[in-house]
Amino acid sequence: MTTLLDIVRSVDDPELPHVTIGDLGMVRSVAIDGRIARIRITPTYTGCPATEQIRADVEAAVTEAGYEPDVAFEMAPPWSTDDISPEGRAKLHAAGIAPALPAGDGPVSLDLPVECPQCGSRRTRLTSAFGATACKALHRCDSCRQPFESFKAI
Ligand SMILES: [Zn+2]
Repeated sequence: MTTLLDIVRSVDDPELPHVTIGDLGMVRSVAIDGRIARIRITPTYTGCPATEQIRADVEAAVTEAGYEPDVAFEMAPPWSTDDISPEGRAKLHAAGIAPALPAGDGPVSLDLPVECPQCGSRRTRLTSAFGATACKALHRCDSCRQPFESFKAI
């Protein structure tokens, strides 16, 4: 049986075709209260323009499932690249996007080399802090000379 949580988790991230907000670990909670479904989502990046699109998509999916959506964003604890599920990492890798570095404990700098999704080399450089969208960065691999995108590690 498909639960409302499954439905919410299966909403696609508008910037990453075939990668869902469940894959990205953005769904914090789904609670049903009568006809109202309270959904709490943590945005991947504050100010990411996709955030409002995600809210609209989640509201549409919840409405279609027969509930009144109450969608809110939860900023604390903040989303981290560690929240991306193993399946989400595999999908990002298949799409040629480096899933960034696990945020870990210490501060993560954008200058840290990101592993190339094409050849696995860490001889990569950041070429632009802003890729196709504000939430991704552009890199170039010095080993295979391919450009690639990554999520910004936070
Ligand atoms: Zn490479």
